[in-house]
Amino acid sequence: MPDTGDDEISVEPEGNAAKIGWVAQPETSGPVHVVPRSCPQCGDPNGATPASGYSLPPWTIKTCAECGFTYITSAPAYDALFEHMAWEKTAQLENERRESTRRLQQKLSKKTRWRLHLLPRKRMPELLAVHAVAGNVIDLGCGDGGQMAGIADHFVPHGIEIASAAAARADAWFRERGGYAINAACLDGLKQFPDAYFTAATLRSYLEHELHPSAVLAEVARVLKPGAVAIVKVPNYASLNRQVMGNRWCGFRYPDHLNYFTPKSLRTMAAKHGLRLRFGPTWCLPTSDNMWALLRKE
Ligand SMILES: [Zn+2]
Repeated sequence: MPDTGDDEISVEPEGNAAKIGWVAQPETSGPVHVVPRSCPQCGDPNGATPASGYSLPPWTIKTCAECGFTYITSAPAYDALFEHMAWEKTAQLENERRESTRRLQQKLSKKTRWRLHLLPRKRMPELLAVHAVAGNVIDLGCGDGGQMAGIADHFVPHGIEIASAAAARADAWFRERGGYAINAACLDGLKQFPDAYFTAATLRSYLEHELHPSAVLAEVARVLKPGAVAIVKVPNYASLNRQVMGNRWCGFRYPDHLNYFTPKSLRTMAAKHGLRLRFGPTWCLPTSDNMWALLRKE
């Protein structure tokens, strides 16, 4: 099995459990069920070196020596995400951690928020209207369905969400529009749809959380019609702010953010599955912590 590089993760010895460990995470209510990870981009289990200063025990961030992809080397298992590790809860814990240990830095970060308003905020309904044709659309990690609010009438909303309560809320209103939401991990949920079913997929602040991003993009490519698009927003690990702020960069979220994409690595991973990446003129600026990308199925 891959070396997780982390002594605090104890690995159970037998059967399926050989790949699963438990790690005590002091800032949550109890131990967390974790799985060790190989490089999500190239699959290399051993070649990674620690990204200097970016780990926060028990979580280790490494950069793959083979392909340069940066990722967290162990992650909460899907089962943990269904309930007590739901992203909204861990995000709140992460904010509390930042508030208590890094008050000054956070103040500074808030003071530089003007950077975020240099350009108009992008909204998914407008992006869909511009880049997608009428038909079924799917939001991965759809939460309670909120970001599909306001989509044009010619789109039928679908979604996949791992947190049960949020998925139920999304399902209720997607059904009013002829679609539905599935309560599952995205990889499992996508497999329930036929080939070429969607005219668009939206992956907003989702792919950085995904345990198997490459496998998910393969499924996204399968369920998209030829010429259809996936609209992606992820933190940009190559951003200037990450290079300036170091381990205080707002893109580091332990353990919620599993994958740290750069424009290059996102392009490479998408291309592997026949999705051609394009950035709009202001979609990938070094001054922004995030990047937006359009992946078109060839
Ligand atoms: Zn790699």
